[in-house]
Amino acid sequence: MNAQTQPSSPIQPGAWLGMVGGGQLGRMFCFAAQSMGYRVAVLDPDETSPAGSVADKHLRAAYHDPSALTELARLCAAVSTEFENVPSASLDFLAKTTFVSPAGRCVAIAQDRVAEKRFIASTGVPVAPHVVIESPEALAALSDQQIAAVLPGILKTARLGYDGKGQTSVRNVDEVRTAYGSLAGVPCVLEKRMPLKFEVSVLIARAGDGKSAVFPLAQNHHVGGILARTVVPAPDATPALVAQAQDAALTIAAKLDYVGVLCVEFFILEDGTLIANEMAPRPHNSGHYTVDACATSQFEQQVRAMTGMPLGDTRQHSPAAMLNILGDVWFEGAKARTPPWHDVIALPTARLHLYGKEEARPGRKMGHVNFTGATLEEVRTAARDCARMLHIPLD
Ligand code: ADP
Ligand code: MG
Repeated sequence: MNAQTQPSSPIQPGAWLGMVGGGQLGRMFCFAAQSMGYRVAVLDPDETSPAGSVADKHLRAAYHDPSALTELARLCAAVSTEFENVPSASLDFLAKTTFVSPAGRCVAIAQDRVAEKRFIASTGVPVAPHVVIESPEALAALSDQQIAAVLPGILKTARLGYDGKGQTSVRNVDEVRTAYGSLAGVPCVLEKRMPLKFEVSVLIARAGDGKSAVFPLAQNHHVGGILARTVVPAPDATPALVAQAQDAALTIAAKLDYVGVLCVEFFILEDGTLIANEMAPRPHNSGHYTVDACATSQFEQQVRAMTGMPLGDTRQHSPAAMLNILGDVWFEGAKARTPPWHDVIALPTARLHLYGKEEARPGRKMGHVNFTGATLEEVRTAARDCARMLHIPLD
């Protein structure tokens, strides 16, 4: 395992950086790294991955392929990841011979809801009331009262869930038993459904020397369990709440001895209480606005943290809104269509980001539009206008 928290000396532009995962986060990482003069090698099995197609080198292999990992480690002065479900053993393997951030042990915690909740709670940051269901036997051992204490709730698979996948809403004990019965006995968390006033996220970058840079609080609106819009700075948060959320994220990162970019999602309850939902050990969809609205983007911070370069200024120079574009936008009912990009681009302040994915499928993240403007009202209105234009549901 890697004991190093930063490269022994800063990695200079011109060097190769490795990215495990070829999705859109890796693609935007490539853009940031390449514009700073680094070369990027992406490891991803997909022939046409968003990052693989813009990287300087694409290693087409499975994330656990020993020869591809060996080649990545040999070529690259440092390696990071954009994909939460990368095997942490692969990161540990790479860390034997090259600098890896975030560390495999941090990724291992973030990719397992049971370990994640346990870890966050251990830092003193509250999480939603929940029970862990590791197996059918563990469920059978729970009394109806123990289950009822976290109902109505959401049954979430401990691993491999994202964008609301792997989640089932449950209202009573029978529904819990039926829902768990259809999950082939995988470990789950049964979490109480909380009365949400709104949702926010804190994005931070932490360097190997322990210095951190925190971005402004982002307010997130989900539709059907998938992030739909982000507005920054969070319109509904008081300064005290902003400080509380940022402190909680900084505490979590420090306790993890984290190096890299980390995003912590929070729920703000009806009574104003802040609780942590989950964390992502990488740049995050709710941080895409940083590319157009901040002095340093989340992807550039990822480059800076992994190369041992100083972290950048997180100052936001314009109010910003981000609208996610899912594959649904390519369909009118069952009929395929080309979305009206001309009209989107014609919106003042709109910046279109598409990920180069060949196939549009409902629910698949295909791109986003960032809006920057003079006021929050202006960018929120622009995002709503754009959503209407693309037939994206607002709620
Ligand atoms: P994912 O990994 O898919 O993002 P999350 O646990 O973040 O999974 O859930 C997705 C969304 O579902 C959240 O952002 C929130 O809107 C809603 N949600 C999840 N858990 C709860 C809960 N306990 N109470 C209320 N809403 C929830
Ligand atoms: Mg989430």
